[in-house]
Amino acid sequence: MPNPISKKNLKKLAKLSIHTGLGLEKGQDLIISAPIEALPLVRLVTKEAYKAGAGLVSCFFGDDQMSLLRYKYANDESFDKAPAWLFEGMAKAFDENAARLAIIGDNPMLLAKADPKKVGRANKAMSEAGSPVRERITAFNVNWNIIAYPTKDWAKLVFPKDSSKKATKKLANAIFAASRADKKDPIAEWKKHNATLAIKSKWLNEQNFASLHFKGEGTDLMVGLADGHEWAGGAAKAKNGITCNANIPSEEVFTTPHANKVDGYVKSTKPLSHAGTLIDDIKVTFKDGKIIKASASKGEEVLLKVLETDEGARRLGEVALVPHSSPISASGILFYNTLFDENASCHIALGQCYSKCFVEGDKITKSQVEEQGGNSSAIHIDWMIGSEKMDIDGITQSGERVAVFRKGEWA
Ligand code: ZN
Ligand code: ZN
Repeated sequence: MPNPISKKNLKKLAKLSIHTGLGLEKGQDLIISAPIEALPLVRLVTKEAYKAGAGLVSCFFGDDQMSLLRYKYANDESFDKAPAWLFEGMAKAFDENAARLAIIGDNPMLLAKADPKKVGRANKAMSEAGSPVRERITAFNVNWNIIAYPTKDWAKLVFPKDSSKKATKKLANAIFAASRADKKDPIAEWKKHNATLAIKSKWLNEQNFASLHFKGEGTDLMVGLADGHEWAGGAAKAKNGITCNANIPSEEVFTTPHANKVDGYVKSTKPLSHAGTLIDDIKVTFKDGKIIKASASKGEEVLLKVLETDEGARRLGEVALVPHSSPISASGILFYNTLFDENASCHIALGQCYSKCFVEGDKITKSQVEEQGGNSSAIHIDWMIGSEKMDIDGITQSGERVAVFRKGEWA
């Protein structure tokens, strides 16, 4: 069998990432991170970046085998370490207007057999050291983009019954289709797609709903929205003035729920892959914004631990609308990766909210976000609640009901 990953589509994905994903401007430096297996895509991206006038392109590679070797041989103190120097350097580059590209493709179950205590410590050290970068990215200081590369181990997880080559080919094609990179002119397709998402956000912003009422199998949930919330989706302008599409793919329009105004019960409609564990059939009950009851048929222990992270971990930070007919949902594939799976279904996220999902979000302060009902937490975990049976009503500020979704589709 020839190369299972279409070179033609990989080239289109690289071009799409530079021009639509990043909107890379002349003279801008670019910092890439990628699994070592994604080298063919990194080279194509680098070529497109320099053709677009990039200053300097740098890439930091990761390797799953190196990660496993750490868990096998490293001394105990190693698990409290993280490369702070690297994140400080990257933060400095962002302050000098460098753009950021993350290519994902790590095996989602890589650490499933590793000591969970060591994984927890390593994650904590990493998130502490990474804060200078995370702050600049969540504050949207510079243009950034995430795309995916079909690595072998990830492909085998998604298509376990197929040979490695066949699985890789299937995952590659699924990534290209979801990213619209297999279309004749992906950049034009994304222009159209962004326009559609903008129409939805604009309509929702005009409605300025007080709350959304989700009703489906196992779900009857009233989600109050934050005061001065704003809906976003598709292309957005970073604080450096450059318009980018941070996530490729992306099918969602999303906003900030009110941390104290969520009531009722909700059931997950797809399994959630979190830190190497699968959590399935999540059922939670909210009262005054807080989860007061939670269970799962699989991974319940991990779920309950997540909810203990901090006060905000039991409250919502995001609500997102995705039609059931979205191309990722229609593919029927479970990717075990949030970049894809969250775009297959309406979802909610526990934890931190986005400050950009407020009116004048680029100027809003932390205490204003809190005052207006925005949640804060060290976690942000999306999970899927949409299905072909989901009805959603918007409740206006004066208490009237407006149909938003019927049977999983825009009403
Ligand atoms: Zn989302
Ligand atoms: Zn999210």
